[in-house]
Amino acid sequence: MRDDKPGDALPRILVIDDDHNVGEFIAAAAQALDLSCAMTTNTPDFMLALNPDVELIMMDLMMPDTDGIELLRLLGQAACKARVVLMSGFDVRVLETAEELARELGLSVAGHLQKPFRLVELEEMLRSLTKAGARPANAPRPPNLVVEPTIVLEADLRRAISRNEFLLHYQPQIEIKSDRVVGLEALVRWQHPEQRLVFPDAFIQLAESLGLIDELGWLVAKRGLFEIGRFTGKNGAFLTLSLNVSAYSLHDLSFPDRFVELTERYGVSPANVILEITESGLIRELASALDILARLRMKRVQLSIDDFGTGYSMLQQLRLVPATELKIDKIFVQTMHTDHSARVVVQKTIEMGHAIGMQVVAEGVETAGQLDCLRADGCDIAQGYFFSRPLPPTELLSWLRARADRVKGSRETDDLAAGSS
Ligand code: C2E
Ligand code: CA
Ligand code: CA
Repeated sequence: MRDDKPGDALPRILVIDDDHNVGEFIAAAAQALDLSCAMTTNTPDFMLALNPDVELIMMDLMMPDTDGIELLRLLGQAACKARVVLMSGFDVRVLETAEELARELGLSVAGHLQKPFRLVELEEMLRSLTKAGARPANAPRPPNLVVEPTIVLEADLRRAISRNEFLLHYQPQIEIKSDRVVGLEALVRWQHPEQRLVFPDAFIQLAESLGLIDELGWLVAKRGLFEIGRFTGKNGAFLTLSLNVSAYSLHDLSFPDRFVELTERYGVSPANVILEITESGLIRELASALDILARLRMKRVQLSIDDFGTGYSMLQQLRLVPATELKIDKIFVQTMHTDHSARVVVQKTIEMGHAIGMQVVAEGVETAGQLDCLRADGCDIAQGYFFSRPLPPTELLSWLRARADRVKGSRETDDLAAGSS
């Protein structure tokens, strides 16, 4: 099936994916960047649509009637000059292996996208790999753009919670001045029995509106506290564990006691746990939350104000929150080297955080340039794809080990050697 816009020049992007939704999603993003795109759902149509003007091929690796690997061979034989992006819901290692193979076949591999991917990731990839004119960040998106292809149903979510179908991916946090891994942020994923991995943006809000978020929060906390031991060295080295907590869960006055009991049960010091609450959630629930936040701090649990800068808060209100950490939202981090006002927000946030004794974390760090700016501005901790995506536990362990091997002789190495056996 071909689906290019009539009257267009030959398509510059060619998609092959048996899932029509994915093709549509990519086509819409390409259209927003003024790139012509054709989508196909099987090999014969794909080969028919392939022409020398195609700059970029976006290929699903796993299709019911087409073998992605076989298709790579065909492209190699045809001495295809287009750059190839591989897509799959598989483990990233499978993608990496396929990439390696494609290179051996003489293809130019431009990268991979792990499904489900987000619009921002896709747009960035399209922009960097084609000659698309950059669309200003605030330009309106086309109205029919499917941003989150996963639709979650209430009954499904209730079942998922009762059966605990959730798992955690962990993203390392790096202390900028020492280049050491100091913490891990746990990010929840839902392993839906019939679907691919579902990301939190597709279900957290629903869980909040159905009153299920407390239950989900406890499942996440238990798993995180249980798993953190796997990543932490036995020599007393520790990594902090950051957990995202919905502000709606800060109503229950027994929360601090229950939470600290849980940390004790799993042998984790409350001081090594950081609860992240979004700035907007904090402001909305401030009156009822302050009591609980104060009690958590008295029990040494750390508190972080997440997505800082996006919540329209008054500093006067925020001053009341006994937080130990500020997390600058990625929107500022990612534009700080091109947008002067974003840089100023970052600098002032760091200054202010330090002036009141808080640690400042930058999220969404994707480039060395961004890290350089943050270092120059005195930011404490960085987290983002530049270092690593959020990883499943086993991959995280390999990542930590590989990193420890690189930084031979440092304390990090000693700690991990003890913890990884
Ligand atoms: P967040 O707490 O702001 O988490 C950061 C999000 O940015 C994560 O998305 C992460 O995968 C993504 N990210 C990390 N590094 C980069 C980067 O370099 N570039 C870009 N573009 N993105 C990056 P994720 O995992 O999809 O989570 C989305 C949001 O869902 C989180 O935003 C958090 O607010 C919420 N969430 C995640 N886990 C939980 C949870 O257990 N409980 C609650 N209540 N909310 C959660
Ligand atoms: Ca967070
Ligand atoms: Ca954020």
